[in-house]
Amino acid sequence: MRAWIEVNPDALRANFRQIRERAGARAAVIPMVKADGYGLGANWVARTLEPLDPWGFGVATVGEGARLRSAGVHRPIVVFSPQPPESLELAARHHLSLTISDLDTLERWAALASQSDGLDFHLEIDTGMGRAGFDWREIGAWGPRVRQLAVGSLRWTGVYTHFHGADAPDPTPTVTQWERFRDALAQLPVSREDLMVHAANSAATMRWPEYAADAIRPGIFLYGGNPAAGVLESTQLPRSAVAVRARVSLVRAVPPGSTVGYGATYVARNRETWATVPIGYGDGLPRVLGNQGEALVRGRRVRLVGRISMDMIVVDVSAIPAVSPGDIVTLIGEDGEEVITVDEVALQAGTISYEILTGFTPRLPRVECTFD
Ligand SMILES: *Cc1c(COP(=O)(O)O)cnc(C)c1O
Repeated sequence: MRAWIEVNPDALRANFRQIRERAGARAAVIPMVKADGYGLGANWVARTLEPLDPWGFGVATVGEGARLRSAGVHRPIVVFSPQPPESLELAARHHLSLTISDLDTLERWAALASQSDGLDFHLEIDTGMGRAGFDWREIGAWGPRVRQLAVGSLRWTGVYTHFHGADAPDPTPTVTQWERFRDALAQLPVSREDLMVHAANSAATMRWPEYAADAIRPGIFLYGGNPAAGVLESTQLPRSAVAVRARVSLVRAVPPGSTVGYGATYVARNRETWATVPIGYGDGLPRVLGNQGEALVRGRRVRLVGRISMDMIVVDVSAIPAVSPGDIVTLIGEDGEEVITVDEVALQAGTISYEILTGFTPRLPRVECTFD
């Protein structure tokens, strides 16, 4: 294989157990598997976590939910973002749980429920994220109508909010959102005991397990990303669940003055040994890593020289003896004692681990592998 992503089921399950323990026995777990399981493969993630008895799974689109159903997932699947009217019928057909942010959608969902053997929904309350949910200050405007519609074949299962700043060092925004959410819950026209109450993503669960409520919705932590960089203690970090690797395809000794890559932005100062590696931004490797990123070869760090091409990078392996075609190059993950974390790459690329993981393209096959 030219280049691939290794996904580690032991690490995924270990991270699930760790965050579930943190949340406490009362909280159910809804692993978020949107964007194809943050790039690891949603079906694979669901299958791997199934034996640990998650309550259900969270997705972002009806299409994602439908694919999980077709793959044989029978647990609840919650679609965690507002969907256009055109998508509701497919959601009903696959018995997905809708999240509701407005009365029009709820009316449509109720109509579909009356033609089916039963549908359910979770109501979102906007406490500051601002992209979805009913306003926490205006419960009187929507509460009674929601209650009126949630009868017969339409079941009101849950109520939730989403934190916008649980990853940041300052706790104030999260505490404020939690208080708004709590106030809103107290004013709902139904008993809190009849609803599954949830709020916490990975960062919130790790930092404020007291906000775990009835269920947590972890995503990035399961996949090995640090959900609160610089805030979590080292013992709280997740295990690395993903490695990105490729094989050296060509090795050449080059004289001083040789240039490499588009724009010839790197010039060899000495006689150097360059290894060409068949992976590039067409695989989702961020182009900004050119001339600054690193890789691991035979357990040692090497530099990416020149710009990253669509299909190739070049690494300077002058310091490592006898590198030859077929040797494994690690862009993310462990090799011997060394490790390049997804958070390290994200920081270098000026983004977050989420974007790095979801950016890897289908050209990289996902391969199950244990590497501990
Ligand atoms: C993506 C998402 C999560 C998971 O967030 P992480 O930071 O990856 O843990 C939780 N809840 C909702 C509504 C989401 O969209």
